[in-house]
Amino acid sequence: MIIVLKPDHDEEDLHRIIRRLEDLGLRAHISKGEHRTIVGAIGDERVLREVPIESLPGVESVLPILKPYKLVSREFKRENTVINVNGRQIGGEHIHVFAGPCAVESREVLEEIAESLLPSGVCFLRGGAFKPRTSPYSFQGWGEKALKFLAGVRDRTGLQVVTELMDPRDTVLVCKYADVVQIGTRNMQNFRLLTEVGNIDKPVILKRGLCSTIKEFLMSAEYILAQGNERVILCERGIRTFETETRNTLDISAVPLLKQLTHLPVIVDPSHAVGRVDLVPAMTKAAIAAGADGLLIEVHVRPEEALSDGPQSLRPSAFTKLMEECRLVAKAVGRSI
Ligand code: PEP
Ligand code: MN
Repeated sequence: MIIVLKPDHDEEDLHRIIRRLEDLGLRAHISKGEHRTIVGAIGDERVLREVPIESLPGVESVLPILKPYKLVSREFKRENTVINVNGRQIGGEHIHVFAGPCAVESREVLEEIAESLLPSGVCFLRGGAFKPRTSPYSFQGWGEKALKFLAGVRDRTGLQVVTELMDPRDTVLVCKYADVVQIGTRNMQNFRLLTEVGNIDKPVILKRGLCSTIKEFLMSAEYILAQGNERVILCERGIRTFETETRNTLDISAVPLLKQLTHLPVIVDPSHAVGRVDLVPAMTKAAIAAGADGLLIEVHVRPEEALSDGPQSLRPSAFTKLMEECRLVAKAVGRSI
């Protein structure tokens, strides 16, 4: 339920409403917009059925939130959420690019890749230390050693570190090194993990589950916000369909649809969506045209030697060229990249 306050309400009105909700066992979520303050009543709203909240001083109207997700919904917060990551704003006019290898392989290769990204103005270096591989015999990532390499590159280049967290037991470790924590597609409905990252003080990239609906995706984001972490970036990364020519099918319509339904930033990962390097540039440009706030792109200096996802990784020269092309597309839709 959303409680819209009158423009001339005072602080005592607000505190009275919060106390009333808390007495009923609900949590009050305050959102102070440019023109309006609204209070979200979070919890089992059935307790409110008999309570005339609209007659409390300072209340203008009380509206039900019809969607099953609340905190993430546009109904709840009309303005776009802009997430500050150490001075970089995600969800604003500038489209940020999160680029790098699928997995961190060695310090040298990571450094080479990072250096190649800098001329394009990239601010975020992605790379897996813990890899969710389909086969238990595939390379699983170097764990903390990889996290240290990432942090070393950040110290030298200023690139912010984005890396995946797979297991709640690694939360403290990953947060020690990461600037942005990624939750992978296979864990989108790992509710224990979502609750865990709901309690960290780091932005989270939440990737859409392989077979998840938009509603399920938003419900998973709701888990994180419900714990208090409001810095969630949604990532469309392709869904599984009957088509086998591409690794997944990029649901490009998810971008404008998510932008309608939620105030959270939406980014696109064309690399995992198509799984083929020849299709990545077109899908990247399509993502910008569709309104993406950011892009997550796999780049490797020698894709043929990559320990994972080589076939979808762009070489630096192709990445640089793509970024040039993206500038034109971004400009056409009133953005910069
Ligand atoms: C990744 O980004 O490296 C990754 C494993 O992605 P996803 O979870 O989307 O498969
Ligand atoms: Mn990958």
